[in-house]
Amino acid sequence: MENLIENKLLKADQAFQEWKKVPFEEKQKLIAQAAEIFKSKSEIFGEIITSEMNKPISQAISEVEKCALMMNYYAEAENILSPEKIESEYKISEIHYVPKGVILGVMPWNFPFWQVLRFATPAILAGNTVVLKHASICFGSGNAIEKVFIEAGFPEDVFQNLEVGHGEVKEILEHKTIKGVSLTGSERAGAEVAATAGKNIKKSLLELGGSDAFIVLNDADLDEAAKSGALARLQNCGQTCVAAKRFIIQRDIEFDFLPKFIEEYKKYVPGDPKLKETKLGGMARPDLADDLEKQYQKALDHGAEAIIPLERISENEFNPGLIRVEEGNPILQEELFGPLGMVMIAENDDEALEMANNIPFGLSNAVWTKNKERQQFFIDNLESGTVNINRMTSSDPRFPFGGTKSSGYGTELSLLALKEFVTAKTILGK
Ligand code: NAP
Repeated sequence: MENLIENKLLKADQAFQEWKKVPFEEKQKLIAQAAEIFKSKSEIFGEIITSEMNKPISQAISEVEKCALMMNYYAEAENILSPEKIESEYKISEIHYVPKGVILGVMPWNFPFWQVLRFATPAILAGNTVVLKHASICFGSGNAIEKVFIEAGFPEDVFQNLEVGHGEVKEILEHKTIKGVSLTGSERAGAEVAATAGKNIKKSLLELGGSDAFIVLNDADLDEAAKSGALARLQNCGQTCVAAKRFIIQRDIEFDFLPKFIEEYKKYVPGDPKLKETKLGGMARPDLADDLEKQYQKALDHGAEAIIPLERISENEFNPGLIRVEEGNPILQEELFGPLGMVMIAENDDEALEMANNIPFGLSNAVWTKNKERQQFFIDNLESGTVNINRMTSSDPRFPFGGTKSSGYGTELSLLALKEFVTAKTILGK
């Protein structure tokens, strides 16, 4: 390992020795200060995001503002990490929550500020320090975040950006100073990193891909569902883990819903990401656009029909596509990470549920129905970390966020995230 990187790990460990002693409320004050900086500089940081990965500027600014909101949630959160006294026959009978140490964050490019801060804020508030391995196209975002921590008054080295490629992750994770890892990214990267963590007996948390269902039943508000569905698929150019990727429509409303959905879908046309009115930018990298084109072809080769053809109009831009897919098409086992949606037709609730669950992933499904019993059926049976009723998915700092099956494990956001990188230490005495 390069000396420069090893020095940073050692400094993160030294910083941890002091940071863990800082009272929770003092840490919260610093988090509030950082939130204020993110809020006041959201336009500047938004421009970094747009320049690095083509996100339309208005969505990039919203991303930074949401980071400030999330940090304020933690700045005001109840301290669930103070020692708990447990009634028992012992004279001393307590649980203490002890931070683990330096935690490595391996983060993706699709929400360059949000993903990093969503993981780092509760980890740091719990008393850990953080080193970040950001996506290789997002080092500018990583450096900007590091500067905010310093500007907000955090002690040096509580948060450091490493600027390393993914080939260096294994060695960093194996280093004695690193006590855990949180990875947001693809299944492939997650499996490799978790294997290294497991081999070295280090805690891991994985937020991986998804192919969530957006189920529209015959008593749904079809106008709302059509509008919401198009946004749920196409915001951030379809490069969102919890985007609606499979639209499961009940057969008897197919011809009422689809025209409305197509009309909404066609409102998304690629534009200059630097302009505030642009709703759809290009994909983050040309090779990702190549991958999406290949997946489109694979779907067609296995019998999918184009409802709206996917059209590549530049190195990284598409006119969004929509395909009709039948059960058994191997494309259903993959994640489409770009502006290409899949439509499936289900006869009834049971079939819709079966289709929704018949994939390797489970992040955040949505179901549209006004009927309480039907809602309950899907709440009880959908296999995902979140179920949305009559709304599209969007995370909320107050609620846990995480997946099931190959979408990963562990919890981000909410008070629960504060306990991800701590040891619950039992203290008993006579
Ligand atoms: P990715 O290729 O897995 O990259 C994510 C991060 O992992 C990057 O920092 C990358 O570094 C690193 N990485 C890649 N291969 C690695 C390996 N073998 N060992 C260690 N680190 C490795 O994913 P992406 O294309 O950036 O992001 C898209 C994926 O992330 C999608 O599957 C999406 O669904 C998922 N995602 C999930 C969530 C969630 O919360 N569940 C949120 C957002 C995105 P380099 O850039 O240097 O390759």
